[in-house]
Amino acid sequence: MTEIASIDQINSFVDTFEKSGGYYFVVKFYAPWCGPCKMMKSIYENISTDSDLKDIAFISINRDLAAELISYFGFQIPTIPRFFLCKVIDSEKFEIVSDLGGSQSKSKMKEQILNLTGYLTEKKEGIKKINMNETKKHRVAIVGSGPSGLTAGIYTARAALDVTIYLGSQPGGQLTTTTEIENFPFAWNVQTNTGVDGTELVTVMQKQAQFFGAKIEQSTVTSVEFNKNKNGNHGNFTVTDFYGEKQNYDGVIIASGASARYLGIPGEEKYIGRGYHSCATCDGSFYKDKIVAIVGGGDSCMEEAGFLTNFAKKVYLIHRSENFRASKIMLERAKNTPKIEFMTNCVISEIIGDKKVESVTIKRNDAEIFNFVLDGLFVAIGHDPNTKFVGNLLETDNAGYLIPNGRKPISERANIYNMGTVIPGLFVAGDVEDSVYRQAITAAGDGCRAAIEMERYLASS
Ligand code: NDP
Repeated sequence: MTEIASIDQINSFVDTFEKSGGYYFVVKFYAPWCGPCKMMKSIYENISTDSDLKDIAFISINRDLAAELISYFGFQIPTIPRFFLCKVIDSEKFEIVSDLGGSQSKSKMKEQILNLTGYLTEKKEGIKKINMNETKKHRVAIVGSGPSGLTAGIYTARAALDVTIYLGSQPGGQLTTTTEIENFPFAWNVQTNTGVDGTELVTVMQKQAQFFGAKIEQSTVTSVEFNKNKNGNHGNFTVTDFYGEKQNYDGVIIASGASARYLGIPGEEKYIGRGYHSCATCDGSFYKDKIVAIVGGGDSCMEEAGFLTNFAKKVYLIHRSENFRASKIMLERAKNTPKIEFMTNCVISEIIGDKKVESVTIKRNDAEIFNFVLDGLFVAIGHDPNTKFVGNLLETDNAGYLIPNGRKPISERANIYNMGTVIPGLFVAGDVEDSVYRQAITAAGDGCRAAIEMERYLASS
């Protein structure tokens, strides 16, 4: 395994690796003082010598020594250890294919790498595609790779459109941060009566879209511009990505999902990834036999609190009132879990610590203020739609969600497609426009509707 400590060293590694015919490599960010990193060391060493992964190189980067490398990668390293799958583009360039997450078992990491490199290698070698090239004319961009974006990808690709899916900074979207999905129809093992892994669900969807010809851009969209044509009505779109690359499309489906919300209290940024987390399924394993708290009162919070009990010896569920948005079944399940203790009418006003979170200040019943000692703090207080790149192109509702035409009063809907917007050729789908249902299955349904409407729009324009 190669240890990398500078930009020169990574450049030299990429050059040598590419010349030796290498394609994929995995990079680990760690720090020598970090407990979970020590736990993962032997797993990583073990995986690097696994014969099934013999074509893949494994490198390590000490995060504390390589600040310049982190910005060079252009990715945030929210927690350590953190693993990324990268691929070599040429002897001077590489790109990150996927964030493989943090601490995990050898089998899980191996499965992720095999899955990802499996289908990407197929792509490199020319994945079997239905030949629709002669009939393809219209170019469509899909911004986002969760269930809405990927379903839109499957439908638009099968409709013989020339489709590009921009994966975004979290390929696969929020489902990749959940454990088991139990409520996606058909994604159910009838032998074991268990659901499917979220990452597996979106990985299969992506393969399906690629099989029908959808192209994948491993980047994040930073802007979408509408270029009106001469009559000021129909036009095309210019999509710019994180690297400044601009591409023109005849239609765009925005399926960029939503991101976890934080408490917004002073100083919290200092502790993100240092005892303060927004994803229990990603970071819960750091808290074996520790005391943690999770803030929220919705289904996510109930689910994540239950997940944390797999590791922590005690989980405090802190909620700002006594009214829960969580469904009855999930609330009862959390209440009946012995390791979970509810603290209601409690608001956290400050996170206290030195290098990491050590305690929080809590105000109970709008009066009593006390210090509460804990090892880790999680938040599960909802999500904000990812619309920054949309700018002023579309209006949003009060919560910042994009508004499809279908949500307007019925009289305005005549002859207007459901997932369409005020801009012809621009459609929205999934959690970026849906603040009500926010389920993988409804997002997939939205993606399907947006794709069908796109097809109709392009056929008539
Ligand atoms: P919700 O919007 O349902 O709940 C958010 C919770 O966070 C509320 O209790 C809210 O409190 C609280 N909150 C919001 N902001 C703050 C803040 N600044 N400080 C303290 N507390 C705050 O979001 P979820 O992510 O839980 O769920 C989203 C959707 O996904 C829901 O429709 C849910 O049913 C679904 N879901 C379904 C699951 C399943 O079926 N397996 C699993 C997870 C989610 P308040 O009520 O006081 O505003």
